[in-house]
Order: sequence, then structure tokens, then C-alpha cells
Amino acid sequence: MLNSVRIVLVNTSDCRNIGSAARAMKTMGLSQLVLVDPIEMPNGQAQALAAGATDVLANAKVVSTLEEAITDCGLVVGTSARSRTLPWPMLDPRECGEKLIAEVSDYPVALVFGRESSGLTNEELQLCHFHVQIPANPEYSSLNLAMAVQTLSYEVRMAFLAHEKAQEQKQFDKQTSEKNDNDEQYPVVEETERMFEHFEQALKATGFIVPSHPGLVMTKLRRFINRARPDSKEVKMWRGMLSSVEKSAKRNQQ
Ligand code: SAH
Repeated sequence: MLNSVRIVLVNTSDCRNIGSAARAMKTMGLSQLVLVDPIEMPNGQAQALAAGATDVLANAKVVSTLEEAITDCGLVVGTSARSRTLPWPMLDPRECGEKLIAEVSDYPVALVFGRESSGLTNEELQLCHFHVQIPANPEYSSLNLAMAVQTLSYEVRMAFLAHEKAQEQKQFDKQTSEKNDNDEQYPVVEETERMFEHFEQALKATGFIVPSHPGLVMTKLRRFINRARPDSKEVKMWRGMLSSVEKSAKRNQQ
């Protein structure tokens, strides 16, 4: 899923920011970087800042227009450090991560970042379905480009992890309900009670329960069995085991 989340950097002037953005992406599991007409192509300095993420940098695609970068995307979110004159559907970073993850199975999705000096133009912002703004200090709201990439990539990762967890839970629920559909049903009270009588009888036969001092054995056994919640097949297996215990006790007495 994370391989279809694209990070697009438009017209970046300082290639060190591209290196840092690559690192920020890789730490969050993202790998698709597209550079739209970068002013400075990634060099050794960019690589140094990318650290262990030089692969993301090396695989970055370079295109000349934003349109080219997002042409196959079904969902495009543009970033903006400040509110624009033109109102546009807005997302907060959390909603942005959730929306990208909710749709990424259907088509590639993109997060678009602007120039260090002036952000994205109105035309570029209008190519986006939604805008996202990191709710920073209103008096100083402009983050460094790579740090904005880090913050929004983190939200994508959190949404991805939540999605994975929900999928696992769904799978688990399905398996449990299948188990109860296909397997034996749970026993009715009568079956369980017969099993407990059988337990008592067998444990008396072995001498574990002394009829004059029965103690709490049966109560504790009930609590234990209740916690395990055996199905009918398992109850039948217990009955079989108890019969063999009784037989063995009888043989020993002879
Ligand atoms: N002076 C520019 C800010 C550019 S910061 C302006 O006013 O638009 C460079 C890029 O970092 C922005 O284009 C955006 O992609 C990202 N960015 C910085 N701060 C951000 C914030 N608070 N919310 C969302 N994106 C932000």
C-alpha cells in the first residue's frame, strides 16, 4: 500500500531538502519520490542528508510538470502552509493520512509539496482534490520542506498501521466465526453437566475426591472448564478420557 503513496516535490531549490525528504519518507515506509523540475538536481550533499535512504533518491523520477507527476493518480492532496484566498476542501493531517490509505488500494495517490520560497501556485493547488495544512503556530506556520514531508508521512504511516490492525482483526473474527460455524457447536448445559458428573465419578474412583471431604475440586474444575469453553467435540473427548480413567481405576482395584 505504501508503495503507491507518491511524494511529489515541486520546483525544489535546495537539493539538501530533497535528500532530507527521502530520509523522512523511508523512515515511514514510503518510497515513491517524484521531483517536478527541480532547480538543483540531487548531488553529494543531498545524498549525505538522505543517509540510508539513497535508494529512494536514486529511484526518484524527474518530470517537468506537476500534471505529469500526478496524471495516473486518483487522489491528489496539496500542502499549504497558509490559507489561500481560494477556499478548497481542507483536510487536517490525520484525515489526510486516513484518506490516502482508504483510497490507495484503488489507484496511486499523491501528496504534493511546494517551493521553499513560495509554496505551490494557485494553479498547482487547483490540480489537487484536497488541501492539507499542518496546524502549526499561526504566527510562524511555515515548516522546513523536509519536515513537512516527515510530519505528513508519519500520518500516512499511522493510518496504514491502523488499517493493517483492522484487517487482522477482521481476519481473526472471520476465522473465529468460521470455526464456530463449521466445527461442533458449543455444548448445551445438559452435555456439560453430564461431563461434570463424569468427572466427579472418575475422580472418586481414583481416590482424588474423597466423598466425605470433597473440598472445592469440582468448583475449581468448573471454573477452569468454563474459562476454556470447550465445544461439543472436546466435551466428548473428555468423556472418553474419563471413561478410560474409570476403567483403569477399576482394574487397579481388582
Ligand atoms: N513560504 C511558503 C512556505 C513554503 S514551505 C508559503 O507561504 O507557502 C515549503 C513547503 O513545505 C510548502 O509548500 C508545503 O509543501 C510544506 N509546508 C510547510 N509548512 C507547512 C504547513 N504548515 N502545512 C502544510 N505544508 C507545509
